[in-house]
Amino acid sequence: MENVVIIGTGCAGLTAAVYTARANLKPLVLTGTMPGGLLTTTSIVENFPGFPEGVDGYELMNRMQQQAERFGARVKFGTVEAVDLEGPPFTLTVDGDPVETRTIIIASGAGHRHLGLENEAKLEKKGVTYCATCDGALPVFRNQVLVVVGGGDSACEEALYLTRFGSVVHLVHRRDELRASKIMAARALSHPKIKPVWDSVVTDILDVAQEKVTGVRVKNVKTGEETLIECAGVFIAIGHVPNTEVFQGKIEMDENGYVKPRQGAATNVPGVFVAGDCADHVYRQAITAAGMGCMAAIDAERYLAALEE
Ligand code: NAP
Repeated sequence: MENVVIIGTGCAGLTAAVYTARANLKPLVLTGTMPGGLLTTTSIVENFPGFPEGVDGYELMNRMQQQAERFGARVKFGTVEAVDLEGPPFTLTVDGDPVETRTIIIASGAGHRHLGLENEAKLEKKGVTYCATCDGALPVFRNQVLVVVGGGDSACEEALYLTRFGSVVHLVHRRDELRASKIMAARALSHPKIKPVWDSVVTDILDVAQEKVTGVRVKNVKTGEETLIECAGVFIAIGHVPNTEVFQGKIEMDENGYVKPRQGAATNVPGVFVAGDCADHVYRQAITAAGMGCMAAIDAERYLAALEE
């Protein structure tokens, strides 16, 4: 029987692992299919406190894992396929095997929604990115024409952020009205560097042969007209998908599948806690996920102490 199983090894999961390990709970930490989480898909992380020169995303996660392991966390490659929350104890099915545990910390993160274009995948990290805060300041984007895809708050926020670095930011949206909140939309649309491209979808990203982004093909969905926008970067901000399918119907979530924390990191199921991007569609930062991981660990530790009493 495990004291605590942590699902996910991003910033939230590994921070929860450091704290629960230091509390002598010997956490079992499951990586899922993306060990290290979303941060490993970005290059340099410049906004994590304590690294004045920035830190490679992969290295940061590797260090967090080492820190957790130093105190007794057991990090295992494994994916949770099913959960039985009629407990405690709870039962998780991990790659076919049952795992019993007194508490669970869900830190399974969220994935960026993709456009689904063939060249999008081929040019990821070569000019195609899903996070302006992470990558916008890279030298390759400085004083260049940039493209943001999407019409929500994220797209507006990304476009506004990118105006600090790019010469022009084209905001490509599939309709003629932004989904974003009025204030964000007004800010974006009134910015002299942001040029909206309405009623348009990206149909291709160039140029795989050069191994870098040189432009995007966009199609106007009303007229059918196709144009080429030459650019150095494509920032795709069409929403996120929380990795919570396995908990569907078993734990309280909002309509988009984000787990709803109640008090602190507690969920509606006593003994099950949540942290990071699978519960947060607002901040989505490495440091906020780490903070939530810390909260979930402390809450789990206190819950277990109360059970003992
Ligand atoms: P969102 O509100 O779901 O918007 C996603 C946008 O992407 C929509 O404009 C949507 O178009 C477009 N889109 C979706 N799939 C697409 C596809 N396959 N191809 C092209 N376009 C596609 O997502 P979000 O902007 O990430 O925001 C998520 C939540 O976080 C929202 O509640 C938002 O308010 C919040 N948020 C708030 C802030 C802030 O207040 N500062 C910042 C970021 C996020 P349609 O409009 O046509 O559906």
